Amino acid sequence: MARIGFVGLGNMGGPMARNLLKAGHQVAGFDLVPAALDAFAAAGGTPAGSAAEAARGAAFVVTMLPAGRHVKDAWLGAGGMAAASDAGAVLIDCSTIDVATAREVAAAAGRPMLDAPVSGGTMGAEAGTLTFMVGGPEEAFARAQPILAAMGRSIVHCGGAGAGQAAKVCNNMMLAANMIVTAEAFVLAEKLGLTHQALFDVASKSSGQSWALTSYCPVPGPVPNSPANRDYRPGFAAALMHKDLGLSQEAAASAGATTPLGAQALALYTRFVEAGNGEVDFSGIIRMLRGG
Ligand code: NAD
Repeated sequence: MARIGFVGLGNMGGPMARNLLKAGHQVAGFDLVPAALDAFAAAGGTPAGSAAEAARGAAFVVTMLPAGRHVKDAWLGAGGMAAASDAGAVLIDCSTIDVATAREVAAAAGRPMLDAPVSGGTMGAEAGTLTFMVGGPEEAFARAQPILAAMGRSIVHCGGAGAGQAAKVCNNMMLAANMIVTAEAFVLAEKLGLTHQALFDVASKSSGQSWALTSYCPVPGPVPNSPANRDYRPGFAAALMHKDLGLSQEAAASAGATTPLGAQALALYTRFVEAGNGEVDFSGIIRMLRGG
């Protein structure tokens, strides 16, 4: 059993912190929103008065915050978490943020730090089945593994600082482009008089196969539990995909990588989100591609 500080008890952080409590850890939590803190206390957590207070005396300190500026501010700025944490603590940021900020915060923290973004969404956070993509020192990774295992099922060490964020943006850029072209193929099939099921039966056994098709099919029918079957309720909201595509293009620009399909995916999701679809599942982009 470990003492853990946990800051950012929102849609993801709330259930992740509850899973740490369920695993028998002693968790001190903090969030700016009083209702999030109340829910955490009701689940058996110890509410802290500030981020620094949550960090103090903990063997592991976890953040699950919206974006890079929140993460930098919490650890190094007004939040003062890095300085407040014990010299021997392992710091773990699970937020999805830009690679550059992840590296900057890790370099300045003065303690071993891991970037450990997740995939699996709020359902994965509730069920404790998240995938963690982890960057940072080997020794800190080894120490943190049992803590991450209480919140997730698959934990991959991707390399040094920022490697977890790098893996996350690369994966989600592939997913977005796969989803768009899969949706385009269904729209084309409709125009050509081909049924959804016929295209699915062929492509799922052919070279057009992808996770977007066989696990998350953007039309109702072929994959009964995909969001298309529930009017595109998320799932994975388009606003979050839009955010991750922005991060992938930022990373591509700063690393000098050429990612024209990633750029086009960002342009299409920007249009989709700006048309009021931020809370729609990202596979709902098929409606925009149909022109509907
Ligand atoms: P959320 O907005 O529900 O939660 C963020 C929480 O952080 C909020 O409760 C907010 O009050 C709190 N917060 C912000 N600044 C703070 C500060 N300085 N001190 C303390 N608390 C502070 O967001 P979420 O959906 O839980 O997402 C968190 C991160 O996880 C994001 O980076 C997101 O991209 C990533 N993510 C989300 C999902 C998903 O499906 N929701 C999936 C994978 C990754």
